[in-house]
Amino acid sequence: MTTAQSPADRVNLDVQPTPLALLLLGREADPKSERGVDCPGDLPSPSDPGLVERARAAKEKLGEKVFVLGHHYQRDEVIQFADVTGDSFKLARDAAARPDAEYIVFCGVHFMAESADILTTDDQKVVLPDLAAGCSMADMATAEQVAECWDVLTDAGIAEQVVPVSYMNSSADIKAFTGKHGGTICTSSNAKVALEWAFEQGEKVLFLPDQHLGRNTAVRDMGFSLDDCVVYNPHKPNGGLSAEQLRDAKMILWRGHCSVHGRFSLESVEDVRARIPGVNVLVHPECKHEVVAAADHVGSTEHIIKTLEAAPAGSKWAIGTELNLVRRLANRFAAEDKEIVFLDKTVCFCSTMNRIDLPHLVWTLESLAEGTLVNQIQVDRETEQFAKLALERMLALA
Ligand code: SF4
Repeated sequence: MTTAQSPADRVNLDVQPTPLALLLLGREADPKSERGVDCPGDLPSPSDPGLVERARAAKEKLGEKVFVLGHHYQRDEVIQFADVTGDSFKLARDAAARPDAEYIVFCGVHFMAESADILTTDDQKVVLPDLAAGCSMADMATAEQVAECWDVLTDAGIAEQVVPVSYMNSSADIKAFTGKHGGTICTSSNAKVALEWAFEQGEKVLFLPDQHLGRNTAVRDMGFSLDDCVVYNPHKPNGGLSAEQLRDAKMILWRGHCSVHGRFSLESVEDVRARIPGVNVLVHPECKHEVVAAADHVGSTEHIIKTLEAAPAGSKWAIGTELNLVRRLANRFAAEDKEIVFLDKTVCFCSTMNRIDLPHLVWTLESLAEGTLVNQIQVDRETEQFAKLALERMLALA
């Protein structure tokens, strides 16, 4: 469970949180999370021509006290102020490597700021510039739903054989559940190693919350069949599965997905191959199984960047990941004569990641420079203890 100093604290906490993901932003519909809240301060106007200068001045005033992290999917206007860029796990580790920085400003989404809080010291304060920057995938598995799922597995007589493996893109509560039940966290880079470890500890895996990463890793990288996988739907009684189906399965996949990567389809792959002869299709493992199966290369955002860095001049690439990153890569590698296009025809930003914009960053940095701590993300001690256990198991993997 996370606390944040925000207007969320001031709304009526008796309202029951809805189990549905993708709540409407700005409606205060989910008081136990930070989504759907207004900025508690006076945001500068987006049309203020002095925003870049204001951000620069505030950051300079803060000096070594502040460390700004920028996720790969952030807008250019924000990424220009990042001290480091990377995926969620790299950024959390980068933050932990800077214990002298009093403020960690995380330009990413909520679960990333939680992980940074878990991995940094008690004296460091992790700040999320817009508390409405959540992750629709992380929101698809709540602590209550996962506890209910564990009861279903217990009733089916298989809980003792099951090892939970949770993707980094999950809330601190889910990471803590994983730690408590002997499981580990994984990233899109080390999912195979994490699953191999889990199958040494038990006979089955409960993979949370991204069904696609779980299925793609098990089937594509480890030789399981699609029939070894079942999908647990938290919105159906008993997950929509019989005890027999649960007993027969090797991989129990949570019914969650990324709303950005889930948009790419087999048609997008076929279409780009027809439009650009000789194109290499490179996609993220959060994409659907049929997309991953049809692609030439599959890998995490860090893998995508490294693959393009190593690609020969004259090569052509269609990339299936978030558009801000693809656009930046296309600009960066154009000078090296590498043609890089977005895999889909339609725009595909991560809308919650895009909540962090220059006005929010300016407001955050100026507030901190004036000595006012805003939008702090804090994970409570018990959650932190078990979540850290799961994260440490991952760090111990080869
Ligand atoms: S890209 Fe997908 S997984 Fe990443 S923050 Fe956005 S919704 Fe979540």
